[in-house]
Amino acid sequence: MLYKEVVENIYKELKNFRGEGKVADYIPALSKVNPDSYAISVCDLEGGEFSIGDSTTKFSIQSISKVFSLAMAISHFEEKIWERVGREPSGTAFNSLIQLEQERGIPRNPFINAGALVVTDMITQVFPKPKQAILNFVREISSQDDIYYDKEVAQSELEHSHRNIALANFMKSFGNIKNDVDTIIDIYCNQCSISMNTAELARSFLFLANGGVNPLSGRRVTGHRSAKRMNALLLTCGLYNESGDFAYRVGLPGKSGVGGGVVAIIPGKLSIAVWSPELNQNGNSYRGIATLEKFTTDIGISVF
Ligand code: GLU
Repeated sequence: MLYKEVVENIYKELKNFRGEGKVADYIPALSKVNPDSYAISVCDLEGGEFSIGDSTTKFSIQSISKVFSLAMAISHFEEKIWERVGREPSGTAFNSLIQLEQERGIPRNPFINAGALVVTDMITQVFPKPKQAILNFVREISSQDDIYYDKEVAQSELEHSHRNIALANFMKSFGNIKNDVDTIIDIYCNQCSISMNTAELARSFLFLANGGVNPLSGRRVTGHRSAKRMNALLLTCGLYNESGDFAYRVGLPGKSGVGGGVVAIIPGKLSIAVWSPELNQNGNSYRGIATLEKFTTDIGISVF
């Protein structure tokens, strides 16, 4: 594969990297992870795949799951999604409550927690068994049956979900959550607890690099236009209040999660997933971002 040597060099160079960062512990079960874990996987549209490091170890994908739920919702609701959630960067933390009152319960975008809760609510309106539907969807797009919820992580998040419960209740007071708040929080915490490794994550994002079609199965996941729009949202909102800096340093649509994963795509070419659990103050992987920055610099390709 074309990028193998580049990735091997980056891995060697950053293997002993120590950020100032810290593993997420506001969800206690996440703090058990080995902070030194490091993995990189790249998949291209020709079927090439290359992984290095702890790429077979599954970890909690957390907010990366918001991309999967958005893809499911977009396929059903299309333009109607934007009646209930915005598409502007928030400039605030992933779990912030601050804009919701001023903006009357309409979250800024689908990738902050408030927006993702609305998307989960939408999925719950159309799928009779939403938890199973989410798992099926992720298994399908990653071409991997061996993907499950991590019950311990889901339970731990449920027990520490005070902010997310506050967000959901607040939006319900504006009529923007249709289901029961407890139901939505349960589905959301499970969705965030999905365990995957970097190879599976890189594969699962390939449809976004390929105009909405999963190149592994040949099946269409979203329309071409929806894939383009999701990529625009990933570029502008995928890393919370660090999205501008990520666009500046990396120059790709991407999504992070507090489990330490970051996935990015180069449209028409490839997807790349990195895992390194130490997070910066914005809740994004220190070494994950450094890896992606080096990757686009070294290969000389980004969306710009
Ligand atoms: N489950 C996490 C939460 O709601 C997701 C946050 C993230 O990965 O950024 O707090």
